[in-house]
Amino acid sequence: MAFGIVSGMDYVGRFAPTPSGPLHAGSLVAALASWLDARAHGGRWLVRIEDVDRPRCVAGAAEVMLGQLARCALLPDEPPAWQSARSAAYEAALARLRAAGLAYDCACTRREIDEALVHAGRTHQRHGERVYPGTCRAGVPAAYAGRAARAVRLLTLRDGRHQHITWADRRLGAQAQDVTDAVGDFVLKRGDGCWAYQLAVVVDDAEQGITHVVRGEDLADNTARQILLQRDLGLPTPAYLHTPLVLGADGAKLSKQNGARALELADPVAALQAAAAALRLPLLPAAATPGEWLQTAVPAWAGIIAGSQAIDSPPDSPQRARKETPS
Ligand code: GLU
Repeated sequence: MAFGIVSGMDYVGRFAPTPSGPLHAGSLVAALASWLDARAHGGRWLVRIEDVDRPRCVAGAAEVMLGQLARCALLPDEPPAWQSARSAAYEAALARLRAAGLAYDCACTRREIDEALVHAGRTHQRHGERVYPGTCRAGVPAAYAGRAARAVRLLTLRDGRHQHITWADRRLGAQAQDVTDAVGDFVLKRGDGCWAYQLAVVVDDAEQGITHVVRGEDLADNTARQILLQRDLGLPTPAYLHTPLVLGADGAKLSKQNGARALELADPVAALQAAAAALRLPLLPAAATPGEWLQTAVPAWAGIIAGSQAIDSPPDSPQRARKETPS
């Protein structure tokens, strides 16, 4: 595992849930891993509420999540940041991308995108996402005159060149993606005015000085897009570690979408122990309080990462679960 030497004061980690429901067993794993990694580095740990995708957000869910984290003694070092309050920063980033000729308005409907893809003989969809065929890349076609833009997209085909991104994930190892080919010109801002996850996460990770991103493996596929945006905006790239997913009995990833139940927190230490097991931490004895248990888990986590061994070997089974882009 490429651990990298960082002094405690330099490390800033975060947990960045979308408040679409209460925490479930899978989200606690990501929260715990990011907390442990920050503490094992002597670093700081922040919580960011990713509430930009308004239709997906559930009123009161963020407060419930924060209460659940507190019950597990996972307390952020600063008051949580809320993406819904950060529109001006996203607008400024988008303006910079536009000024650099890297963002453009798209007026295509979904159906038109599908039809153009079929026409081009490209029917594959990646994780349900359409690889944009580029119809509005050189300007909204005259035939669409008078239409409102339905999205703002990032230009990924630049002077005929594809954008190839490589990075080293601390657990999954060397990663590579041709963003142009795999996801195409992805959305930065939606027609309903909502900011896309990719732009918001990149702007906020930089604003909050995040040096290490620790999150579920279902998000690994977004990393290349985020690194591309970081480069386009002149922002630093954090280190990435994608944690094993908690799978349900059916082998599918446990998620809010497939009805994972809210965390049972009558016994928060037991919930933390279950999350630790998903991270392949050695079994740690129960403690009187979650705070005490966490203190015993920090050296266990530090032992795993210092041994320069992965949390586990990267799964290569075909049932490796992924999820769609969060927003
Ligand atoms: N908000 C995203 C989610 O809940 C996670 C974002 C991230 O950790 O980069 O899926």
